[in-house]
Amino acid sequence: LDTLTLNSPVSLVIDEARFAKLRQHLFPGDGDEHGAVLAAGLAQSERGTRLLVREVFLAEDGLDYLPGWNSHRILTGPFIAQKSDYCARERLCYLAVHCHSASDTVGFSPIDLASHEHGYPALLDITCYPVGALVFGTNSVAGDIWTPAGRYALNHATIVGRRVEHLYPSLNGRPKVADLIYDRQMLLFGAAGQQILAGLKIGVIGLGGVGSLLNEWLARLGVGHIVAVDFERIDLTNLPRVVGAYRWEALAIHPGIDSHPLVEELRRRLAAFKVTVARRVALQANPQTRFEGVIGDVIDEDVALQLADADFIFLASDSMRSRLVFNALVHQYLIPGIQMGAKVPPGVGGEVGDVFAVVRPVLPHNGGGCLDCNELIPPHRLRQENLSERERRAQQYVADDQVRAPSVITLNALAASQAINDFLMMFTGLYADSADMNYRFGWVRERKWESAAPRYREACLDCGCKSTSRRARGDGTRLPCRLVSPS
Ligand SMILES: [Zn+2]
Ligand SMILES: [Zn+2]
Repeated sequence: LDTLTLNSPVSLVIDEARFAKLRQHLFPGDGDEHGAVLAAGLAQSERGTRLLVREVFLAEDGLDYLPGWNSHRILTGPFIAQKSDYCARERLCYLAVHCHSASDTVGFSPIDLASHEHGYPALLDITCYPVGALVFGTNSVAGDIWTPAGRYALNHATIVGRRVEHLYPSLNGRPKVADLIYDRQMLLFGAAGQQILAGLKIGVIGLGGVGSLLNEWLARLGVGHIVAVDFERIDLTNLPRVVGAYRWEALAIHPGIDSHPLVEELRRRLAAFKVTVARRVALQANPQTRFEGVIGDVIDEDVALQLADADFIFLASDSMRSRLVFNALVHQYLIPGIQMGAKVPPGVGGEVGDVFAVVRPVLPHNGGGCLDCNELIPPHRLRQENLSERERRAQQYVADDQVRAPSVITLNALAASQAINDFLMMFTGLYADSADMNYRFGWVRERKWESAAPRYREACLDCGCKSTSRRARGDGTRLPCRLVSPS
């Protein structure tokens, strides 16, 4: 690791709750300087390097944070030693934090920079992970990140919560020009909001009834980069729900038609992938969108890792194992996401059951809606899925043993529209402080929306506070993917 170079730009990601705690400590209203240490995981991709804040350690004034020389304040030696040891042991980056009384523009003082040059080479000798410093203004942040291979300026910080906010070293004059076709939606979220959408990379897992709607709407909204994941091909029963699919693409595959398994398999192989349909739909809706179609299953590591640097992930696939991987991506890489679907459960005695649409925001902070904490990834269902797959493989072809759940485009749209509005409001900063990010259930036959606050378990291995959890560990741990993909 001693040649560790960081891809640019380098940014910091912190969840809403931890940032609120840090901001309160740095800016209690006394106009004074205060200090803290952040322990952060590391995630690198072609889009840059993200420092994922896992822990916030506040330095107590007068105990851990003392006057040094030249009216400059410093973290004490014991505090630095304790926290840097912790970071080295936990394989996390060590980031010293202080504040200046600045608002929109902030930068290190010459004394700050001199102390980095004095301290960080020595610190890098005891840890092989990046170390560095951040200085916050009330509406800005700058950073000086060190590795044995070089020194990097922080580009920005992202605060992930019901509003996804960005802090920069200075108001950087975002380009305020956007395409006139977005005139009407810019009346709602401005040219700046439109520009934000154009810069996003959004993952869509599953391109069935719900996912195909999300894909088209994201492209029409002007989202810059869509990564759409699905391993299935279109069949005739998908046509009433998958937008933009041609009848000939489904090639008479009908699970109800009795034909020789080999004929059925041949037809199946000639049918179009859902990803192919989605690509056409997205590019028709917006030729500027970068559409990346992944014909594969998110439960395979190479597929999942293509979403590890996304800004947001929609989970519109129904398997327990995709929930497992999605939940891990959200918490390990601090990527907000939403799981959604519509269900038409069979009722008793041939009656129609309680039709519902469900939308579950999953935000990477404690109590943010972790699917595991809310018992939505039950181990016995995971085992069932693993078993039935082995059985299917033993039979040499994909038997149609999937549950043929009732599915209707308008019900899918109910879930998809709530989810994509959540996404839009979060990224354009339009959600009010009073907006809860609870799970929402639409009971269609009762014509009623209900909301439920998600639960939180401290011992959770995805989102919890124990050192065994994957939260914010980034590239430092493996995703819970299947080990060998069946080919
Ligand atoms: Zn300073
Ligand atoms: Zn959890």
